[in-house]
Amino acid sequence: MFDKTNLYGFTLEELEELMLDLGHKKYSGRQIFQWMYQKNVFDFQNMTNLSKKLRAELEEKYLISLPKVLEVKVSEDQTVKYLFELEDGMLIEAVKIPDDPRLTLCMSSQVGCPLGCKFCKTAQIGFKRNLEVGEILSQLALVQMMLKPYERITNLVFMGMGEPFLNYDNVKNAIEIIMSVLAFGIGHSKITISTAGHVPGIYHMTDDGLKVRLAVSLNSADPDIRRKLMPITRKYPLDDLRRSLIYHTSQTGRRVTFEYLLISGITDTIPAAKKLVRFVEGIPCKINLINYNPSPGLPSEFEPSSENQIFRFRDYLYPRTPAVTIRASKGIDIKAACGQLAAEHQ
Ligand code: SF4
Repeated sequence: MFDKTNLYGFTLEELEELMLDLGHKKYSGRQIFQWMYQKNVFDFQNMTNLSKKLRAELEEKYLISLPKVLEVKVSEDQTVKYLFELEDGMLIEAVKIPDDPRLTLCMSSQVGCPLGCKFCKTAQIGFKRNLEVGEILSQLALVQMMLKPYERITNLVFMGMGEPFLNYDNVKNAIEIIMSVLAFGIGHSKITISTAGHVPGIYHMTDDGLKVRLAVSLNSADPDIRRKLMPITRKYPLDDLRRSLIYHTSQTGRRVTFEYLLISGITDTIPAAKKLVRFVEGIPCKINLINYNPSPGLPSEFEPSSENQIFRFRDYLYPRTPAVTIRASKGIDIKAACGQLAAEHQ
């Protein structure tokens, strides 16, 4: 049992290659791919278009195994948080966010995170390890299997635990499986990678031709404040980040989304808004303003912005910047902010 190889997470090419290596037809790889990722069939015996011989052989050496769903918490606003237990006992989270007509799933790319953002619960877990391709995919598969018959995940954001660009190859392979019409069939325009500002990752994704959307968790355009809030700024300063985004938008023709957390007196002031306007100038973008969501264990000097200040900030930004939305904090009662639930369990 323990030395069986888990096929969940294998790409189409890997499955086809495996079939050839085992002396079977290449197209059996495609059939297994569809059974696993399109039909959620995880028992080889139920893969009825495979020969009995192949099924027996697979059974002997391979298995298809997904993480365990440990906890499901439903918020008053219908946001749902899922806690998954991985094979090695590590915990990760995903959050389903209804925003009619969209149903978005926020997924994790790492267990914990090494980047240490001061406002983030995941940062407090520290970095444990990267997620495997199958562990990334299974967040989507397991949530889909728990949906009501009329529901469907329409959008995906890699905005949960972890920095996706620090696990680029696995995130990319998972995205390619998610986009495949033989698998989950979710289009590239519905998938967003959110980065804390990993500049080499932005260049790599752009040059790699990965056609998904890019979001940047910016939170401050003031170098000193951002360095304090997000230590990654020391390695990749704002000027370098800005240059990488100009490159990305000019090469892809796609605008980026800036996520901007409003922390009272720190990031929500008019001087901060002025810096933000200067930072985004020349970058096709939209800005999402999100009010800070306090949580035990996070710095006590951080407080959410007042409603008045949120509107003052928004009114300064627009129309000086192309598009600004105020995003409601969802699922506060179920600890939906990134890492909150897992941090509590760890
Ligand atoms: S906000 Fe994102 S990048 Fe920053 S520590 Fe949390 S998970 Fe990591």
